[in-house]
Amino acid sequence: QAHLDRIAAVDGDVHAFLHVNQNAIAAAKAIDSRRAAGDDLGPLAGVPIAVKDVLCTQDMPTTSGSKILEGWVPPYDATPVAKLRRAGLVPLGKTNMDEFAMGSSTEFSAYGPTHNPWDLDRIPGGSGGGSAAAVAAHEAPLALGSDTGGSIRQPGAVTGTVGVKPTYGGVSRYGAIALASSLDQIGPVSRTVLDAALLHDVIGGHDPKDSTSLRQEWPSFAAAARDGLQADSLKGVRIGVVKELAGGEGFQAGVTQRFQETVALLESAGAVVVEIDAPSFAYAISAYYLILPAEASSNLAKFDSVRFGLRVTPEGGATVEDVMAATREAGFGPEVKRRIILGTYALSAGYYDAYYGSAQKVRTLVQRDFTAAFEQVDLLISPSAPTTAFKIGERIDDPLAMYLNDLTTIPANLAGVPGMSIPNGLAPEDSLPTGVQLMAPQREDARLYRVGAALE
Ligand code: GLN
Repeated sequence: QAHLDRIAAVDGDVHAFLHVNQNAIAAAKAIDSRRAAGDDLGPLAGVPIAVKDVLCTQDMPTTSGSKILEGWVPPYDATPVAKLRRAGLVPLGKTNMDEFAMGSSTEFSAYGPTHNPWDLDRIPGGSGGGSAAAVAAHEAPLALGSDTGGSIRQPGAVTGTVGVKPTYGGVSRYGAIALASSLDQIGPVSRTVLDAALLHDVIGGHDPKDSTSLRQEWPSFAAAARDGLQADSLKGVRIGVVKELAGGEGFQAGVTQRFQETVALLESAGAVVVEIDAPSFAYAISAYYLILPAEASSNLAKFDSVRFGLRVTPEGGATVEDVMAATREAGFGPEVKRRIILGTYALSAGYYDAYYGSAQKVRTLVQRDFTAAFEQVDLLISPSAPTTAFKIGERIDDPLAMYLNDLTTIPANLAGVPGMSIPNGLAPEDSLPTGVQLMAPQREDARLYRVGAALE
């Protein structure tokens, strides 16, 4: 109830939520009876949580931030949502996001922007700005996000929250509305590293309904975080500063300054810090903005006015194709259309090798750079985002400026490695939050929690 009251008090200004769960109190009460009946609920039972609107919920509308899905209530729960409910967490509602998770500011939501609780004139990051803002504004203690190119970590950085993109395949994508299937991952948003770990323990693990879900046992991430909180846990840990992601053009001075202070702190705590060269990372953003639109254009073909969602029939009778065209014209916003056009172009015959094919080769080079780096160090570190939160409206008409904010987060998605953003103090010039990013080899998410908890 305290969280519902908080939402009622501040969400008129923040606009983190697209939908508030009217059954939250009833669901919380039901947990008491499950407990009384001897149901073995985990440590998060009874804890409320906000859910990004990219995840299907059978009792709440799911729009993925788009008009084309306005009012749609899915017939099933996404696996991470089903796991939350099984563990006794209570969904508080669905959070705002850039349409189909395309964006870095939440301004591309069809339902209006979310405002950063630190400064309401600024963006909360994106695409998961709603989840990050909800946690930062104390409307929810935990949230779920999705990260295809940084949509959990970059909002974390600019709102002073913790955000984790697990290893690709570590958390089921079943019931997550796909943006780019080879890059998408679901992950936790929280105020502390230990909280994120507890949530990751709940949502992670193999799911036969997701063919890319990894078949393996995972260690307890909460145990890893608690381990990191012990004295001397950073001693001897080998950490690589990625030269290409550590500063330079596009990086705000205060972000770089806080980052360097954190690196110095790690050294003073006994970590061994070395510089790592990852030359292909400079091309990661270009490759991503071909691979992502290509996959997205294919994934979004299912919004055809027939199977679900909006249907617009043009005046004067129409063919199936007319209805489809009118529906997609009315239902998709400008960024979604831009990427569908880019993606279909990149995939079209005659251009495939020049664009999509080349981008896939760059992706392989990025993966090789990670492999080489992890032969030398246990973890990589960089700022989570090159700048603090920019003003609402500042980059909306400049897609390239918007895309450049993803510089630091995209390599991890291209390689499928896990990444975590943790709060890294305020930038001196604007007193806004900055974040530091840790990256580990595939399947070594526990390292992030161990070192992240120590660093925090
Ligand atoms: N900003 C990135 C993009 O617009 C991130 C997307 C994401 O992670 N969902 O593609």
